[in-house]
Amino acid sequence: MSPKPAATKKHERSVEKLSHFRCAHCGKWWSVGDAPLAKKVWWCPWCGLSAQTINAATH
Ligand SMILES: [Zn+2]
Repeated sequence: MSPKPAATKKHERSVEKLSHFRCAHCGKWWSVGDAPLAKKVWWCPWCGLSAQTINAATH
């Protein structure tokens, strides 16, 4: 019996753009999936402080 895909079952695929942030205050990293580009001020989940974001030079 050879393995073959079941005709009635479908895998679900979704694509996520992952943004990586580095805190301006404590320097720790966190990531947000599908983070809106229009949102400029983010709160650090590590130290709780907010700051505006700039794009990293490597992007
Ligand atoms: Zn922080």
